[in-house]
Amino acid sequence: MRDTFHIPYQLLRHAWCIEAQVEVGVLRLDQMGGVINGNKWFKLVYQLEEVQKLHKKGIITYGGAYSNHIYATAMACSHLGIEAVGIIRGEETLPLNPVLAAAQAKGMYLHYIDRTTYRQKHLPEIKKQWLALYPDFYEIPEGGANHQAVVGCSLIPTYVPVPFDYIVCACGTGSTLAGLITGIAPGQTAIGISVLKGGDFLREAVQQFVLPIRQEKLPCWDIQTSYHFGGYAKQSPELSAFIRFCKTTWDLPIEPVYTAKMFFGLFDLIRKGYFPKGSRIVAVHTGGLVPLYG
Ligand SMILES: *Cc1c(COP(=O)(O)O)cnc(C)c1O
Repeated sequence: MRDTFHIPYQLLRHAWCIEAQVEVGVLRLDQMGGVINGNKWFKLVYQLEEVQKLHKKGIITYGGAYSNHIYATAMACSHLGIEAVGIIRGEETLPLNPVLAAAQAKGMYLHYIDRTTYRQKHLPEIKKQWLALYPDFYEIPEGGANHQAVVGCSLIPTYVPVPFDYIVCACGTGSTLAGLITGIAPGQTAIGISVLKGGDFLREAVQQFVLPIRQEKLPCWDIQTSYHFGGYAKQSPELSAFIRFCKTTWDLPIEPVYTAKMFFGLFDLIRKGYFPKGSRIVAVHTGGLVPLYG
């Protein structure tokens, strides 16, 4: 899985950057050209190696109906020739949405559970219901968020081809941000933009992800929690207009759930003077352009 690839890096020129005297570039993980693109590749890479090493029969993992992680896991398992089971929150709705349809087409078995059970999926007495059906499968948590995911994401900064001061990404579970924090040098700063309402819990989550890997000399990091647009997957006409703006201005495709909120927040911070003059900022395009968004 760990083929070497070239990740494009694109400068984003705009009057906002000139006025604020900052430089912004984007690391295009959406254009890695691999079986999986985006941060989901970095989150899964060590877990997939583990699955192969342990000769597991397949992977069982969790997600909502529009989960990029479910989609990425299905693609990876199909590529590796192992089985995949997705425990999906809620009832089956037909026709399947493009994410689940693509996952199923790649051979993932979709196992639906009701929302109440889904919330309790971490409890051993609850999850044995389905784990017993899939013995010898490797279990990956919702969103692929665990220690190995963080270690995988710590590789992301090594693909930035220029010196930088700030690196910015969208935050769902915070494991990608935790990876950036563990992967950058002292003096550099990692900033996460929460796509969830009430993203304050993320600070604690990120801390927990980072601690086992890097205890001393943590670089600076921050989470911005006011760019969620009403909550996870919530949209607004302003956000849609911003997506069109990025496409026409920079030929930069983004989607509404994660990357649009990240870029919107980043440029808002730039206009507000958050970054000192002379800052070199890298935005991580974490991908997420599943068929749904075209
Ligand atoms: C999953 C995902 C994220 C969030 O990553 P976390 O590690 O859960 O914070 C960000 N961007 C995209 C495009 C994603 O698919």
